[in-house]
Amino acid sequence: MLTGVQVVLLGGDARQLEVIRKLTELDSIVTVAGFEQLHTPLDGAIRAEMSDDLFRGADALILPAVGTDDEGKIIAVFSDRELVLTDEHIGLLPKHCTVYTGMAKPYLRQLCDKHGIGLIELFDRDDVAIYNSIPTAEGAVMMAIQHTDITIHGSICMVLGLGRTGLTLARTLRGLGAKVKVGVRREEHYARADEMGFEPFYVKQLPQVVSNIDLLFNTIPTMIVTAQIIANLPSRAVIIDLASKPGGTDFRFAEKRGIKALLAPGLPGIVAPKTAGRIIADCLSRLIMEDSRLRGNEQ
Ligand code: NAP
Repeated sequence: MLTGVQVVLLGGDARQLEVIRKLTELDSIVTVAGFEQLHTPLDGAIRAEMSDDLFRGADALILPAVGTDDEGKIIAVFSDRELVLTDEHIGLLPKHCTVYTGMAKPYLRQLCDKHGIGLIELFDRDDVAIYNSIPTAEGAVMMAIQHTDITIHGSICMVLGLGRTGLTLARTLRGLGAKVKVGVRREEHYARADEMGFEPFYVKQLPQVVSNIDLLFNTIPTMIVTAQIIANLPSRAVIIDLASKPGGTDFRFAEKRGIKALLAPGLPGIVAPKTAGRIIADCLSRLIMEDSRLRGNEQ
């Protein structure tokens, strides 16, 4: 249980509602800001303004998937007010407080660093990334269905990268009856892809293997689907780029060549906010519990 633990949660989207539910269920004292436009009850959470006292009393500060932008602005879909996290706010946090977010921009990292406050980026963690790969793969399939006039069954799909997202996606596509080619750079990934029944190739061979594919899914977060690759794609091919912004595709050249290319960020929060919220909530509650247990032992 998290009895007596003071959690401050700022902004976010529907995913944070699952986080609030879970943390209040565990008996922590959850104070939230950035939910003025949400007219349904918040599972026992206390609504507040961004005041100094809010930060002074926090054992844990929870920010949304993308913590802040480069100026400290926090996305808050249930608020029409601007929520900005400042240097002063972080300076007011007790030294034992930890800041939790999905991923942090340099702005947030620098503030936490400067004030000696712990920062945990949940999406960096394997457990969260692997669970998140499930709604991501489902979202990628949704986009493929929306943007093609063929079934995935019987199509020739290519997945670039056999990491946490790529592996789940390749398996999902194969489950739907696609022929799946997987682009990797490591020999062990080649062997694993082969063992799993995919058609592996090394990404350095990419220009030679793209000439007959229907769908290209990229999970490699670097420029990989270059103009040269796009020039070799059949005109029917659709590119769905899942890698974090700006993606790994030359979108300008794809448009010039008339190839449909879509950057698809944040799919878990779009296609399955409840599941995505539970993934975050389960991990967060474990981490905060562990943190408060360690603090209890130290005192
Ligand atoms: P990951 O587990 O690190 O996988 C990335 C894969 O890319 C690894 O297999 C890695 O190979 C490969 N790779 C990296 N650089 C490469 C290069 N230069 N050449 C060849 N292969 C390279 O990451 P992930 O969790 O799957 O996430 C992948 C991307 O998707 C990230 O940008 C992430 O932010 C994004 N993402 C997007 C969504 C969405 O909704 N669109 C959801 C979740 C994640 P090695 O193992 O050899 O390094």
